[in-house]
Amino acid sequence: MICTRSLSYRYTAGATLRFPDVDVPQGVTLLLSGPSGCGKSTWLALMAGLVRPTTGQLTVAGQSLAALDAVATDAWRASSIGFLPQKLHLSAALNVRQNLALAQWAAGLAENRAAIDAVLAALGVAELAARRPAQLSGGQAQRVALARAVLHHPKVILADEPSASLDDEAAANAVALLLATARAQSATLVIATHDARVAAQLAAEAPATGLQRLQLLRNPS
Ligand code: ADP
Ligand code: MG
Repeated sequence: MICTRSLSYRYTAGATLRFPDVDVPQGVTLLLSGPSGCGKSTWLALMAGLVRPTTGQLTVAGQSLAALDAVATDAWRASSIGFLPQKLHLSAALNVRQNLALAQWAAGLAENRAAIDAVLAALGVAELAARRPAQLSGGQAQRVALARAVLHHPKVILADEPSASLDDEAAANAVALLLATARAQSATLVIATHDARVAAQLAAEAPATGLQRLQLLRNPS
C-alpha cells in the first residue's frame, strides 16, 4: 500500500517537484509515467525512503516514513521494499549467487542459500548462478537484479525504467515477469517508465481492477 499527501521535493539549486496524491491499495500495480526529467526516479526514491520529502507525508507498506530515523528507515527498506534500479548495480567481481548473498547481508539477514536458489529458479535463471554479471545478456542481468529485489518478499516493488535499453521481446518479458512476481508475492508494484510499449502492455496484461496511473508533467525548470 502507498499513500501520499502534498508531496514535494526540491534538489539543492533545483526547481521544486510537486507530486499528485496517490492511494494505491496492496497488490495493485501503479504505472508512473511522464517525460524524461518529470520526477519519476525522484518519486521512487521518496517511496523507498532514500530521500526525505521537502513537504508532505507518505505511508508505504503500512509505515509512515516521517516516524523513522535513518537507521530505522534502512531496516524498514531492507524488509519491505524491493528496488529494481534503472542502472542495475550488480557487483562485477561476484557471481550471481554471491550478488544475492551480498543483498541478504546488506539487509541484515543471515545468508540463506535455499532462498537464493528458489528465487533464481522462479525467475528462470537458476543455471546462471555461477556466472558473473559480464557473462550475462541485458535481459538476463535484469532478471538477476529482479531476483535480488524480491529475494526477501517485499510488500512493495519499485521498478525504474525496466525496459530501458531492452529490445521489444526482452522489454515485454521484463514487464511480464514483474507482473507475475508481484502477483505471486501479493506485492504492490510500481513501474516508472516513459516507454509507450510498457504502458500498452500494462493496460493489456495488468488485472483489470488492479492498475492505477500516475502521470507526472514536465517540471517547471
Ligand atoms: P525522471 O526519472 O522522470 O527522468 P528525475 O526524478 O530523475 O526524473 O529528475 C527530475 C528532475 O530533477 C529533473 O529536472 C532532474 O534534472 C532533476 N534532478 C534529478 N536528480 C538531481 C540531483 N541530484 N540534483 C539536482 N537536480 C536533480
Ligand atoms: Mg528516471
